[in-house]
Amino acid sequence: GEKKVVIVGGGPGGATVAHYMRRLDPSIEVTLVERNRVYHTCFMSNEVLGGFRDLERIRFGYDGLRKKGVKVVHDTVTAIDADARKVHLAGGKTLGYDRLVVAPGIDFKWETIEGYDEQVAGTIPHAWKAGPQTATLRKQLEAMPDGGTVVICPPPNPFRCPPGPYERASLIAAYLKRHKPRSKIIILDAKAKFSKQGLFMQGWKALYGYGTDNSMIDWVSGEKTDYGIERVDAATRTVVTKFGDAVKGDVLNVIPAQKAGAIAHAAGLTDGDWCPVNKQTFESSIHPGVHILGDASVAAAMPKSGYAANSQAKVCAAAVVALLNDQAPPEPSYVNTCYSIVGPDWGISVAAVYRYNREKNEIEGVKGAGGLTPMDATPEHRRREVAYAHSWFNNITRDIFG
Ligand code: FAD
Repeated sequence: GEKKVVIVGGGPGGATVAHYMRRLDPSIEVTLVERNRVYHTCFMSNEVLGGFRDLERIRFGYDGLRKKGVKVVHDTVTAIDADARKVHLAGGKTLGYDRLVVAPGIDFKWETIEGYDEQVAGTIPHAWKAGPQTATLRKQLEAMPDGGTVVICPPPNPFRCPPGPYERASLIAAYLKRHKPRSKIIILDAKAKFSKQGLFMQGWKALYGYGTDNSMIDWVSGEKTDYGIERVDAATRTVVTKFGDAVKGDVLNVIPAQKAGAIAHAAGLTDGDWCPVNKQTFESSIHPGVHILGDASVAAAMPKSGYAANSQAKVCAAAVVALLNDQAPPEPSYVNTCYSIVGPDWGISVAAVYRYNREKNEIEGVKGAGGLTPMDATPEHRRREVAYAHSWFNNITRDIFG
């Protein structure tokens, strides 16, 4: 009979797999299970925080995928029975599959920060999943008096979107510079270095006085926090570093350490925090017939990004279609670009093309393909990178959601 594929999670990973499965082999029945009716992209959510974009402009629905013939079910997958090839939904239904794709994104290691949990995150947002918390954090920035302090606590590696916390600091600074110029941003890092650091700092110097006494942004290296914060006191809006230093903010943005989405742990697909896979097919190294991709998977040297999830999804869709048709999976290559917006006319990026190394089961960067925005680029180059970032956003959201 008809071959059946079930996909768990309708983010960049899962939605792209659904879209491309339908394109590659319309005879396969594709069911996508996603708990939310709308998806807010994290990409460009920092523009929402800076007041440069409305929340509606990062919101997407699933009608585009329905038009492509994907059966979209809004429910939560509560259990995976890999032996019986079935998933169980919170609503009571059970779905059988020939192959399963799991792309649940991340969850947080709440236990790593005392005084911080899912409930506290309602008022001290991480905003590391976009949507209601993005709106809350934006409102708090709007309500903050001029001269206030914003404290951002980036997580340890590995985490979703390595340049994300620093783009966030940049776009909040762009907002404060115009509307509340006496304010400060303190980044209390869990790391001693970060993605595109040289390029970010060059932009911060030019735009926000970085390195001077009047700098709007202060970055505190992980070496000075003993690698992150240990405690949050919600009542006094204070975070305490592992050295015991207390830092009070008017607005706090605490981003905890991360792990694969809960269902991956519940289904026994993890080794430690993340899901090991065959990187040619994204099939689980633990449960045959189950594929995992996007943030939840171990796909280094690719970063945990939306573009990486989208690229992995195409590789996975091609592999699943081949396997269901008794063919060998194709030899993949993969791509990623991460744009970051440092100011309204100041964009930077890092791009890479990857190939599969069969002997090592590794995704390796192709030498000479890709690279970084040059230091000391021209103003025109920087303006263009912002335009490229926006066109990337339009293209990829179309590619994901149809
Ligand atoms: P997700 O996007 O998290 O999707 C997972 C989906 O699965 C969710 O919709 C969730 O509701 C659903 N789900 C989970 N469990 C279940 C279940 N049990 N049942 C049903 N549904 C379930 N990436 C870029 O490429 N470029 C950028 O510029 C960029 N900027 C970013 C900025 C910020 C501030 C942040 C936080 C991230 C940014 N990213 C960016 C990273 C990007 O958002 C993630 O890497 C991407 O979302 C990962 O996609 P995913 O499909 O693996 O997971």
